[in-house]
Amino acid sequence: MKKQPLGQNFLIDESIAREIVRLAGVSSDRPVVEIGPGKGILTELLLEQAESLTVIEIDTKLSLALNRRFGSNKNFRLIEADALKYDYGTLAGYQVVSNLPYYAATHILKRLIHYRSHIVRKTVMLQKEVVDRLTAQPGTRDYGSLSVFMQFHCEVERVLEVGKDAFSPKPKIDSSVVTLTPLAQPRVKVDNLKTFFNIINAAFLHKRKMLKNNLKGWENMFSKENGRTELAGIDLNRRGETLSLEDFATLSNHVHSHND
Ligand code: SAM
Repeated sequence: MKKQPLGQNFLIDESIAREIVRLAGVSSDRPVVEIGPGKGILTELLLEQAESLTVIEIDTKLSLALNRRFGSNKNFRLIEADALKYDYGTLAGYQVVSNLPYYAATHILKRLIHYRSHIVRKTVMLQKEVVDRLTAQPGTRDYGSLSVFMQFHCEVERVLEVGKDAFSPKPKIDSSVVTLTPLAQPRVKVDNLKTFFNIINAAFLHKRKMLKNNLKGWENMFSKENGRTELAGIDLNRRGETLSLEDFATLSNHVHSHND
């Protein structure tokens, strides 16, 4: 099956659509934003249950059809826009429910993180391999900067597996549904976010390399303890993929305090 422009693999299994809406816990006292409504399989169910529904669709043809089908409902609002650029700060206290366009899924999720104070919860379907990364724990193959970034800001839970047959046209890969619930406070205390994410990105730059190689930019702060190279008490012979969020916070807070 050739790759779909705009990630247009439409969900055709009604029972999975119902399950996604159920898992999202959509209720009549909360607005919902749906990204990429497509032909409206989730849209119809969301409209039945949400206080109001705003959908963001980039494709003009699909937007026209959606407006024809749902436009008379006063709780429905269609925005023809690029979800990668949309200002999600114009609404508050809403949840996001989406079968995301896969080519843009991680970029949209990262963008939504910036608007986390507006969003109560996100329930999104995306490539299984990306959900593997979002939920990965230290010491596992899929653990990387995306896992750390999302888990720092959100409670991340995989809630459903969806096979290729549930879509038309059928994609090459399986999908998973994940819920991301923004935390009131980030999971660990970090004194300077820029330093924190600089260190994380550097630590995972070459996944097979030891930290002492990936963190060369902070070499002037390395220390030697019992023949080991350390930074903030962390053994730099380790690889980035073994470090917990707490370990990254320890490194970053140490580096930040020594830069002052
Ligand atoms: N929700 C529908 C479903 O479950 O069948 C469609 C999902 S389909 C995987 C992704 C949808 O996102 C398509 O309707 C596509 O046109 C739309 N889309 C793709 N890129 C987009 C973007 N940058 N901004 C907004 N919508 C986009």
